[in-house]
Amino acid sequence: MEAYGGAGAQKSEALKEAFPAVFRVARNQEVSIEDLMIISGDHVQWNVTFSRAAQDWEVDIFEAFFSLIYSVKPNRQQADSLWWNPTGKGIFSVRSFYKSLSHTTTIQFPWKRLWRNKVPPKAVFFTWTAAWGKILTIDNLRKRRLVILDWCCLCKRSGETVDHLLLHCETTRALWVEVFSRVELPFVMPETVVDLLASWALPRGVQQIKEVWKMIPICIIWCIWQECNDRTFENKERSPGELGALLFRTLMLWAIAIDFNGLNVHDFLASLSLT
Ligand SMILES: [Zn+2]
Repeated sequence: MEAYGGAGAQKSEALKEAFPAVFRVARNQEVSIEDLMIISGDHVQWNVTFSRAAQDWEVDIFEAFFSLIYSVKPNRQQADSLWWNPTGKGIFSVRSFYKSLSHTTTIQFPWKRLWRNKVPPKAVFFTWTAAWGKILTIDNLRKRRLVILDWCCLCKRSGETVDHLLLHCETTRALWVEVFSRVELPFVMPETVVDLLASWALPRGVQQIKEVWKMIPICIIWCIWQECNDRTFENKERSPGELGALLFRTLMLWAIAIDFNGLNVHDFLASLSLT
């Protein structure tokens, strides 16, 4: 079994996920548990080697890593083999994989509401991928071993995670605040994208307003991603005002798909005194 893949793992978490900083500098990342074990009498020593010494700020992490692996007593009666934790017998099955995926979130996510939307399918698909934390933000690229500086392309400060980029970054947050201030609603930003989508309550009343409101989180997420790509690949950067304009322009464009009983979206909003 791969040393960083399974055995010695904390519950279902692999060592490489529990200690990414240690894994990054491990000299041999594909080595098996058996290859690293040195057995002398009753004692087991771990022959883990690194490409460099730990930095001052990494000492605690390395200490925690070694404490963990020395707290585990490998079973020496049985040969090393692959073991799938979610099933009792350790054998992989698609059913158990599906179950383990669907149990990762405790909230009831309204997937149907996300997909039953009149926004372009590519934007829904992107938002759905973001909710699973799988879009290519810098932290996800680094997990794929791309050597890349971990900073947010918008604020150029914090590390770029999905939730930071799409919710908490100051540039993104300004868009969320703008939307909520226009409808005069107080709001508290949830921690994750999936929480935000799950808690996005629909207003009562006019169906067309509901449809527009359903588009808003997807539209913000889509525009932020567009801005990131423009900054990264086109070297173009919008000001906060220009980003706000992009959001409302995109929203108006998407709203064409909604039937406003013959009115255009501006006339419709005007008829409700919402502009
Ligand atoms: Zn940022």
